[in-house]
Amino acid sequence: MRINFNVPPFTGKEYEYIKECVDNQKICGDGPYTAKANEWIENKTGVKKALLTTSCTHATEMAALLAGIKEGDEVIMPSYTFVSTANAFVLRGAKVIFVDIRPDTMNIDENLIEQAITTKTRAIVPVHYAGVGCEMDTILDIAKRHNLFVIEDAAQGVMATYKGKALGAIGDFGNYSFHETKNYSMGEGGALLLRDETYVDDAIIIREKGTNRTLYKLGKVDKYSWIQPGSSYLPSDMNAAYLYAQLEKAEEINNDRLSHWNRYYEALLPLKEKGLIELPIVPEECVHNAHMFYIKCKDFEERQGLIKYLMSNDILPASHYVPLHSSKAGLIYSEFRGEDRYTTRESERLLRLPMYYKLTDEDLDEVVMRVKEYYRFT
Ligand SMILES: *Cc1c(COP(=O)(O)O)cnc(C)c1O
Repeated sequence: MRINFNVPPFTGKEYEYIKECVDNQKICGDGPYTAKANEWIENKTGVKKALLTTSCTHATEMAALLAGIKEGDEVIMPSYTFVSTANAFVLRGAKVIFVDIRPDTMNIDENLIEQAITTKTRAIVPVHYAGVGCEMDTILDIAKRHNLFVIEDAAQGVMATYKGKALGAIGDFGNYSFHETKNYSMGEGGALLLRDETYVDDAIIIREKGTNRTLYKLGKVDKYSWIQPGSSYLPSDMNAAYLYAQLEKAEEINNDRLSHWNRYYEALLPLKEKGLIELPIVPEECVHNAHMFYIKCKDFEERQGLIKYLMSNDILPASHYVPLHSSKAGLIYSEFRGEDRYTTRESERLLRLPMYYKLTDEDLDEVVMRVKEYYRFT
């Protein structure tokens, strides 16, 4: 394809930083670059502690362990999300309860959460789709009244805010992804954000195989040993070095992506005004990060036709999640509570257009031109 859907971000300093790790023989986890990345996240978001992880999937698994999720518990989330949001809790024996999304943001409908709560409910997992924040005030209020954990899937939300607060720093735990498809990348990687001090020590132990090795390295205990169940959730410092080269340029990357987003929006607005397509909606209280630019076609058939048309013109678009409740595993491990008014219908007509750091205006304009051609818009 001449115009790809995604090109992993690269800023130029990555090789130099990775070489430094190799030269200094600091290639395992929790080296200097991991410390710098953690600090960057803490400064940017205001959380008590950020811990770089091997993926957002693993950060979510850590959150499930910290929240003490166990067999028979229920966890509420949208069905329109990535499998990892659900897997982390299913692995602990919990049942996943899906509620419908809002058609405007594709985020969980906060007004449907309360009626899905039972005595078994332990957590709510809002997913900030496309880096656009969920209605967090309402969600936090529900969680407080029912004594539930709020675990934010902010995989797509780095550098985005809700009412001025960083996504991932609002709930008890927040999870970032630094997969190569995300705004900032380390190939495979993520981070766990801990809003308060309460779970910091436990999180550090869980991430280091359930040991107090970190305290040992700090000279706080004489020898390290097995403290509680845990796993290996810390990435190599070489991956952190790659990431740090991008976090240093986060403003530039963010502005570059936002300019593409705005250019798409303005160029496609006439099609929306003619009622041919729909464009993304960003609520007033949210500042997004241009993680993706999507349009909505009339229906599934029209979207499939547009995918074919763009691909025949050397442009690679992407549809997105098949709702989890209708998947093979979803039928076993989950339950959709309430009516599926929007989840399936909206997911079938959503199409993501090429979006990445350093996408050129020429390429973007060509994508727009082909979309207009498909709709015979002149
Ligand atoms: C990318 C993504 C994940 C998984 O991230 P990894 O770092 O690949 O584990 C989870 N949830 C959402 C919403 C995502 O977009």
